[in-house]
Amino acid sequence: AKCKQGESFSTGEIVPYGDISISPCAGILNYGQGLFEGLKAYRTEDGRITLFRPDQNAIRMQTGADRLCMTPPSPEQFVEAVKQTVLANNKWVPPPGKGALYIRPLLIGTGAVLGVASAPEYTFLIYTSPVGNYHKASSGLNLKVDHNHRRAHFGGTGGVKSCTNYSPVVKSLIEAKSSGFSDVLFLDAATGKNIEEVSTCNIFILKGNIVSTPPTSGTILPGITRKSICELARDIGYEVQERDVSVDELLEAEEVFCTGTAVVIKAVETVTFHDKRVKYRTGEEAFSTKLHLILTNIQMGVVEDKKGWMMEI
Ligand code: PMP
Repeated sequence: AKCKQGESFSTGEIVPYGDISISPCAGILNYGQGLFEGLKAYRTEDGRITLFRPDQNAIRMQTGADRLCMTPPSPEQFVEAVKQTVLANNKWVPPPGKGALYIRPLLIGTGAVLGVASAPEYTFLIYTSPVGNYHKASSGLNLKVDHNHRRAHFGGTGGVKSCTNYSPVVKSLIEAKSSGFSDVLFLDAATGKNIEEVSTCNIFILKGNIVSTPPTSGTILPGITRKSICELARDIGYEVQERDVSVDELLEAEEVFCTGTAVVIKAVETVTFHDKRVKYRTGEEAFSTKLHLILTNIQMGVVEDKKGWMMEI
């Protein structure tokens, strides 16, 4: 669907997957005026198709659109468009337990601009792709703390899902992966002393009964999985602290794990900071394994959805 600046989005249409044509002067191409979202549709054992908290993605896109001066679809339009897209791709939603249909909504400035300005027209589009399960209980992530590159600064766009947040990450990822790491952990730009997040997921540490995760105060993405895991951890009696977490504390933790739509929740096996490599608890005994079961049981419709997080389509 398209929308002129300050107007409302028209009702969109479903078209076969393919290239889109765009002005060379489009805001997204020249000034990175674009946002995206990521969510999953699941097929449950009793034959339903459900979405996990799509209203939260809609709200996050609204917050991002405000930061990037774009007109967003309304939350109702967002959720309805996601539903219609999934229905049209029904056959690609994997069988229960075999993965999910990943859904990628994009809001981009497609109107033409020459000087730095908000594009006069925006496009909201959604594409999908089936994905497998990321989680393997036996192995965890091997993270490299990146002390050279920063991904977000106070006052910047780190707190919204701007396309431009990801371009500084690619070089770090390539370097880390070429040295055998699974992902990169970024530090705060202001001091380089605190941990922020991984390339596409949030990070948590566990010590004793206390679960800690960096605060969503503008430089990290407020993950929907992060928010859900905080709630579930509190429900089972853990204390959850959203606060600055230093690298020193990370290296002293008993357990470290990541959360995000792609990984759901994933244990970190090792963290490497300069020459130091620390190993953490993973596997069946790990807290993150317990939380993985609690959350995936809700997502797969195995247990009653007491929180009202699942939306049937
Ligand atoms: N941080 C970043 C940078 C991300 O790209 C993502 C994925 N959206 C997350 C955290 C996790 O957010 P969510 O749980 O909403 O997928």
